Amino acid sequence: MGIQVASTENPACLCGQAIAPRANYCSNCGRENLQVCPVCFEERRALSNLDLYASPWCAKRGELLVACSRCGRWLPAGVTICPDPGCRGRVRETWPSNTGSAPDGAGRTDGWRWPAEWDRQNPAYRAPVYASWNADGAVYAAFVAHGKLYVWVGSSLIAPGVGKDGAPAIGAAQSPSWKSWLGFDGVLSPTMGRGSAVALTGGGAILACAQDYKIVGLFPGRADEAMPLHLGAPVCQCAADGWWAGWVLREGRAELYAARISAQWRNTACVRVPTVSGLAAPRPGARMLMQGGVAFWVSDQGALWSLNCEQNVCRQLSEPAADLLIGWCSADLQGAHLIRSGGDGIRVGLEPTGSDRVQREASGGSGPMRDLFASKGLIAVVGEDVVTLDSRTGYILGGGRYTGQWIAGAVAETEADSPDREPRLLMLTQDGDAGNLTSLRPSSGGEEPVWRGSGVRPTGLIVAGRRLYIVCETGVVSIRPAASAPTAEEQ
Ligand SMILES: [Zn+2]
Ligand SMILES: [Zn+2]
Ligand SMILES: [Zn+2]
Repeated sequence: MGIQVASTENPACLCGQAIAPRANYCSNCGRENLQVCPVCFEERRALSNLDLYASPWCAKRGELLVACSRCGRWLPAGVTICPDPGCRGRVRETWPSNTGSAPDGAGRTDGWRWPAEWDRQNPAYRAPVYASWNADGAVYAAFVAHGKLYVWVGSSLIAPGVGKDGAPAIGAAQSPSWKSWLGFDGVLSPTMGRGSAVALTGGGAILACAQDYKIVGLFPGRADEAMPLHLGAPVCQCAADGWWAGWVLREGRAELYAARISAQWRNTACVRVPTVSGLAAPRPGARMLMQGGVAFWVSDQGALWSLNCEQNVCRQLSEPAADLLIGWCSADLQGAHLIRSGGDGIRVGLEPTGSDRVQREASGGSGPMRDLFASKGLIAVVGEDVVTLDSRTGYILGGGRYTGQWIAGAVAETEADSPDREPRLLMLTQDGDAGNLTSLRPSSGGEEPVWRGSGVRPTGLIVAGRRLYIVCETGVVSIRPAASAPTAEEQ
C-alpha cells in the first residue's frame, strides 16, 4: 500500500504548471506541491494555498490540520509558527472558527464583509437568501468551525447536513448528519454567560455543562463521546492562540485552570494555576477574554485580573470599582480596555489597563452598556443608543438607534468593490414578538433591513466566512448573498 493522495482536486502549482497525477514535485519549478500528511504520514495532500476549500481534517486519524499562511504547508493543530527556518510564517486554521463572541472581545465578524448588493440604493440590489434549520429541543449555543455549523441542542452537539444552496437544511423530522452525545448532564450550565458556553480548541470544543466542562471532538467523519475535564462547575472560560483558560467552582472554592491546545483534543491537559489569589475569582457567567496566551476578566470585587498561561502567573491590573466592565484586548498585547457604566453614562478606556500609558476615557453615551465593538480605528458602543467613536482620539464619529431589546451585533467591513467603504454595524434585536436584524451606517444613522422573523427569539449572531447565522432558541437561520455560489464543504 503506497501513500494515497487525499485531495480529489488536481490543482496547479504556484508557477502555473498543472500538477501531474501522483507527481509530488512540480516538473517545472521543483516546488513540493503534495506534502505527506503531518499527522498520519500515510497520505499526501495538496498544500493549503493550492486547494482553498480543502478539508482541514486528516481523514485517517480524524485530527485537525492547520496551515502556514505563507508557504501553505499543513501542520498539526497547536503549531503557531511555521517550523521551516526559511519561512517562519504564521500558522492558522484554514476555515473560520467563531462562536459569536470573539475571544479578544474586539469584534465578531470573521472574514465576512457587508455585500454591496444588500444596499437598497444600489441598482444591483438583491435581497439576502435565508434558510432555517429547526431543532427538536432547546438550542443552547451554536458555532462555526472548520467549514461546518455545529449546534448544541439538548444534550447533543449536532452538525446539520448541507442542504440546498449549501444551507443547513435538515428538518426536525429527519435525522441530523452528525451528532455527538454529551451525556445526560450535557446541558448548558444555567449560570453561564452566552460568551462562555463554548470555547474552540483546535479539533475540539469545550462546552460549559451543568456539572463540569466537557470536551468534544469536531471531526465530521466520526462522532466520539464527549469527555468531562473533571475540574468542577464551570464559571467562565475562553480560548485563543493555542491556549484555553477557565474558572471553576469546586467544593465552594474558585479555582483557575489553563491548558495548552494540543494536536489531539483527547490529550488536553488542564493545569491548575497555583499562584491565584482568592480575590481574583470572577462572578459566575463573567466575561473572560484571551489574546496572545493572556486571559483577562473582572473579579467579583470589580478589579481587572490577567493570567499569563505560559508562565502560569495571575496578576491584578486595576483597583476594584463597582461599575467596571471588560471591553476588549489591546491589539499590541499590552492589556485590556475597561469600560465604566454608571450614573454619568458609559466611559470607554482608550488605553489598555495594564500598560504604563496615561489613561484617557471617552464618553460612549447613556447606559447601561449592552455591547461594544472595536475594529480598525472604530469603537461602536451600544447603550441606550449606538455611539461610534474614533479609537485614537475618542471623538464621536456618529451613531444611530435600535428598536427593541439588544441581542447581539457585529461591525463588518464592506466588500472591496463597494461604492463606499464605511463599516456597517449589524444589529440583532428582539422587537416585540419578532427577531430583527438591521445594518446601521454610523455616519448618517441610516438603516438597512436584513432579516425579520416573527415568533422567533434570537439569542446570538455568528458572522463567519461567507454567511451570517442567527442563533435562535429553537433553531438557526442562515443568511447569505444571492450571488455567492455555495460550495459543498461550506455552510
Ligand atoms: Zn511549479
Ligand atoms: Zn493524515
Ligand atoms: Zn511556512
